[in-house]
Amino acid sequence: MNSMPQSTANRPHQALAAALASVFPPQRLIRDPLRTLAYGTDASFYRLIPEIVVIVETEAEVATLLQLCRQHGTPVTFRAAGTSLSGQAVSDSVLAVLGDGWGGIAIAPDAATVRLKPGVIGSDANRALSRFGRKIGPDPASINACKVGGIAANNASGMCCGTAQNSYRTLVSMRVMLADGTLVDTGDAASREAFARSHAALLGRLTDLAARTRADAALADRIRRKFAIKNTTGYSLNALIDFTDPINTLEHLMIGSEGTLGFIAEITYATVPEHAFKASALMLFPGIVEACEAVIRLKPTPVSAVELMDRASLRSVEDRPGMPAFIRGLPDGATALLVETRGADTSELEANIAAAVAALAGTTTLEPIAFTAEAAEYERFWNIRKGLFPSIGAMRQTGTTVLIEDIAFPIERLAAATAELQQLLHEYGYTEAILFGHALEGNLHFVFTPDFGKASEVERYGRFMDAVSHMVVDRYDGSLKAEHGTGRNMAPFVELEWGAKAYALMREIKGLFDPEGLLNPGVILNNDPQVHLKNLKPLPAASEIVDACMECGFCERMCPSQGLTLTPRQRIVGWREISRLSALGDHDHAKEMRTLYAYQGLDTCAACGLCATACPVGIETGILTKHLRGERQGPVARRIAGAIGDHYALTLAATRTGLALADLAGRALGAETLEKLSAGVRRLSSNRVPAWTKAMPTAAKFTPANGAGGRIDAPKVVYLPSCASRTMGPARGDEARDALPVRTEALLRKAGYKVIYPQGLEELCCGQPFESKGLADAATAKTREVERALAAASQDGAIPIVCDTSPCSYRLKNQLPERLRPLDIVEFIHDRLMDRLDFRRREQAVALHLTCSGRKMGLEGKLKAIGAACAETALLPESVGCCGWAGDKGFTTPELNAHALRTLKESLPEGCSSGYSHSRTCEIGLSLHAGIPYRSIVYLVDQCTQPKDGAP
Ligand SMILES: Cc1cc2nc3c(=O)[nH]c(=O)nc-3n(C[C@H](O)[C@H](O)[C@H](O)COP(=O)(O)OP(=O)(O)OC[C@H]3O[C@@H](n4cnc5c(N)ncnc54)[C@H](O)[C@@H]3O)c2cc1C
Ligand code: SF4
Ligand code: SF4
Repeated sequence: MNSMPQSTANRPHQALAAALASVFPPQRLIRDPLRTLAYGTDASFYRLIPEIVVIVETEAEVATLLQLCRQHGTPVTFRAAGTSLSGQAVSDSVLAVLGDGWGGIAIAPDAATVRLKPGVIGSDANRALSRFGRKIGPDPASINACKVGGIAANNASGMCCGTAQNSYRTLVSMRVMLADGTLVDTGDAASREAFARSHAALLGRLTDLAARTRADAALADRIRRKFAIKNTTGYSLNALIDFTDPINTLEHLMIGSEGTLGFIAEITYATVPEHAFKASALMLFPGIVEACEAVIRLKPTPVSAVELMDRASLRSVEDRPGMPAFIRGLPDGATALLVETRGADTSELEANIAAAVAALAGTTTLEPIAFTAEAAEYERFWNIRKGLFPSIGAMRQTGTTVLIEDIAFPIERLAAATAELQQLLHEYGYTEAILFGHALEGNLHFVFTPDFGKASEVERYGRFMDAVSHMVVDRYDGSLKAEHGTGRNMAPFVELEWGAKAYALMREIKGLFDPEGLLNPGVILNNDPQVHLKNLKPLPAASEIVDACMECGFCERMCPSQGLTLTPRQRIVGWREISRLSALGDHDHAKEMRTLYAYQGLDTCAACGLCATACPVGIETGILTKHLRGERQGPVARRIAGAIGDHYALTLAATRTGLALADLAGRALGAETLEKLSAGVRRLSSNRVPAWTKAMPTAAKFTPANGAGGRIDAPKVVYLPSCASRTMGPARGDEARDALPVRTEALLRKAGYKVIYPQGLEELCCGQPFESKGLADAATAKTREVERALAAASQDGAIPIVCDTSPCSYRLKNQLPERLRPLDIVEFIHDRLMDRLDFRRREQAVALHLTCSGRKMGLEGKLKAIGAACAETALLPESVGCCGWAGDKGFTTPELNAHALRTLKESLPEGCSSGYSHSRTCEIGLSLHAGIPYRSIVYLVDQCTQPKDGAP
C-alpha cells in the first residue's frame, strides 16, 4: 500500500529541479520526503506537500526562481514564518522559503518610519523601535513568530491596530517583485519612473480599472463600507478607490494579496507611538448583549483595545494557576470585556480612564468597573485573554484539529450577530466552542475542535461553514475573514461576500499581475467550491509529549537547528507522519522517514528545551527527542552507561588524560595541523570520531581544599563543581590558566565564604550527560548520588549550595527536593556575592552568553547585572540563542554548533576580546565561533573585584 505523501510518489518537476540545482547550492534545495513534508507545513489545517523547497536569500535569487518557474510552467508559493491559519502558505509545487538573508531593519533618524526586510520577525522590529517609543502598526497575536512578509501579505492585525494602523494604512513604500521578475521600489523616484516606462501597459490597465471602480458609485461605496471594518476576504479593493497613481494602487494591492500578486522584498512602514503608560480593566457583564452594547459606548472613547470573552472562553481558563477566583463563580451567559487604554503620561492615562468609565455610566456590570495600572495585575488579565486559543488547543482530544474562525461585523450589529453565532455553533453541535475577539473592531474569533479524520465531521464542518457564511454576509454584511487572510479556507466564499461585480474586479487584478497563474494559485480565488474541505491535515496520535501541538510554529525561532535541519514544529510533524505510516502498516515508507529522521530530527536536536519557552501549550520537543533517543539505545548501550556511571571517577580521569594527550599533540604539531588532521580522521570515520579544534580545553588541574581558610564564623557554602569543570580546563591559548573550580573557590573565599565540597566529589555527576542521550536510568542513578552527597554536605539544606555549570544547576533544581536545590553560579554571584565584594569596572567591552538553562531559570537580568558591574560595555547579543553545543554535540555534530552561532562574531561589541558564560562546554563552541576566548563569568568577576574594605 502506498500511503506516502504524493510528493515522493511522482516527480514531474525533474527538469525544473535540475535547472534550480545549477543555481542554488544543494543545502538550499530540499526534495526528500521528510523535509518537504516538514517545511511544507504551516499553522493551518491544510496539508499540501511541496515537490521542491527552495531557501531563497536574495532578490536576485527570487528573480531567478520566478524566471525558472515561468519557463517550466510551475507554480510557486512564498513562505515567511508559516503561521498562517487559512491555507495560504502551503503548496504542492515549489515552496520558496525566506532564509537568513531577509533580516534588515533600518529605522529613520526620527523613527517616524522603518524599513524592513520581509524576514524580520514582527516583535524584533518592535524591539528595535522601542527605544524610540515607537512600534509598527500591525499587531497580530502571533507577532513574536510571524514575519513582516507574512504580516504585510496577509494584512494581519490584532488587538489594538484596528483598521487604522494595519499594513495597508501604515504603508509608506515597498520594494515589489512582479511575476516577470521586475523589481520596483515605490519609495524611489528613479525606480518608479523606470517601472512606469517598462510596465506602461500594466499601469495603464490598473489606472483604467481604478477609474472604472471609482466611476461606479455604488461599488465604490460598498468597497468603502466593507473596509470600514476589518476585512481580509479577497484583494484590497480599496486600493482602487483610495489612490489615483497606479504605482500606489499597485503597492497597496500587494497588502493582503497572500503571495498571489508578487513578492514583497522590502516594506517601509510609518511607525506608531508605543505609549509607556497603560491601564486595563476586566469588566464583567451579565450577558453578551450587555457587553456588546458597552463596546458601542466605548468605541468613541480613547481606549486602545476591547477584547470580548464569552462564558465558555472564561470557563476554558478558569482553573489555570493565577486565574482570579471570581471567574469560577460567574453565572452562565456572563461575558467579559478586557479594556485597555494607553497614554503618553499619567495625566493622559487618567483622563482616558475617566472617559471610558463615564461612557459606561449606568451600565449593569457584575462587578464594579476598576482600571488598574499595576503591571502585574493587568498582565494577569491579559494572560487570561492570550491563553484562550492555546487552552482549547491543549485540552482538545488527540486527533482533533483546533480551528479558529475569524469574522467581523459592523460594531452596531455586534450584539445580535454574536448571539446568532452562538446559536449556530450550538445548532451544529460545536458545544466545545469558545467565542472571543477584538470587539472594538467588531472582530470575533470562534474556536472549535472538529475531528477531520471522520468524513461525517468534514461534512458537518462544510454545512456549518455554509451556514456561518450566509449568516455573516446575508444578515450583517460582515467580513468572512477579518484578519487571518482568505487562503484556501475562504476562497469559495469570496464571491458570496463581495458579489459578482467586485469578484470580477478581483479576477481581473489577478490576471493583470499573474497572467500565467503561477503565483500561489488556488489561494484567494479558487474555482472549486469544495476547496475548503480538501487536503485537510491529519493530526494522528504520535506521543503524549507532543500530541497537543497545534503546529502554530511559535517555537521555530527559538531552535538552534532551524534552517540547518528541522525546527521543533517540523520535528513533531515528521514524527506524526512516521507514527501515521506505522499505524497504517506502511513500514517501508515509515522506515525511509525514520532513517531521515535519525539525523534531521534526533541527532541535530540540542535538547535545549528553548522551544517550550515559546510554545503556547508548553511543549518541549527536546523531551520527545530524548525519549526517542532512549528507544534507539539498545540494552548494550544502557549497560555501558550503567558501568560508566558506576566508575565515574575513572571515566573523568580518562577524559583528562585524553585532553592532556590532545594538548600535547597540539603543542607538538601545532594547533592548525592538529585541527586539519583531526578533521581528516573525522571524515574518514564517517563523522563518528569527534573533531579537535583549537578551542578544545586542556585537562583541568584542581584539588579541592575542603573547608580551608576563612574566619571561624564565616558563612558556609557547599560548592558542587560539575564534572565538565572538573575535567575541562581553559583552552590552550587562553591567558586564563586556572581551571574553573580553582577560580570559583578563590572567589567564594574572597567574598568571605568557607567552601565545603560534597564527599566523593570525583564520582559525582548530576546525570545530565546521560539524560540528554535518553539514558534515563543511568541519569537518575547519578542524580540520587548527588542528592545524598549534597544532603550530607549541606546539613540537609541548612547551608546554601552553588553549582558552577548551568545545565547541571537546572537539572538539579528540577530533580532535587526544594531544600537541596542549588543556586546557579550566576544567581549566587548576583544574590550573595555582589554586596560582599568591591567591583572595579573594566573599560574593555565584554560579551555575555546566557545558556539555555540560564534562560529557563530566568537568569538573563542577573547575568546582565553582573556584566554591567564588571565592564563599561557588557553585551548579550540578541541574535544568539542556544549555542547548539548541547553537552557534546559540538564534538559529534559540530555543524549544529556552527549553524547556531553563525551570527555570533558579527554581534560582538567593538573592541571585545573575551566572552563570559556559565557552562564550560558551551564556552568551547562560543570561543571557536567568536574567535575570542569564552570563560565562566566567575573569571570576570574574580578579575574585577576586591574583598570589601575591611573584610578579612
Ligand atoms: C496562534 C495564532 C494566532 C494568530 N493570531 C493572529 C492575529 O491576531 N491576527 C492576524 O492577523 N493573524 C494571526 N495569525 C495568523 C498569522 O500568524 C498572521 O497572519 C501572520 O502575519 C502570518 O505571517 P507569517 O510570517 O507566518 O507568514 P506566512 O504564513 O509564511 O505567509 C503568509 C502569506 O504571505 C505570503 N508571503 C510571505 N512572505 C511573502 C513575501 N515576502 N512576499 C509576498 N508574499 C509573501 C505567503 O505566500 C502567504 O500567503 C495567528 C496565527 C496563529 C498560529
Ligand atoms: S510545539 Fe508548541 S509552539 Fe511549536 S508548533 Fe507545536 S504548539 Fe506551536
Ligand atoms: S529542544 Fe532545542 S534543539 Fe530541540 S527542538 Fe527544541 S529548541 Fe530545537
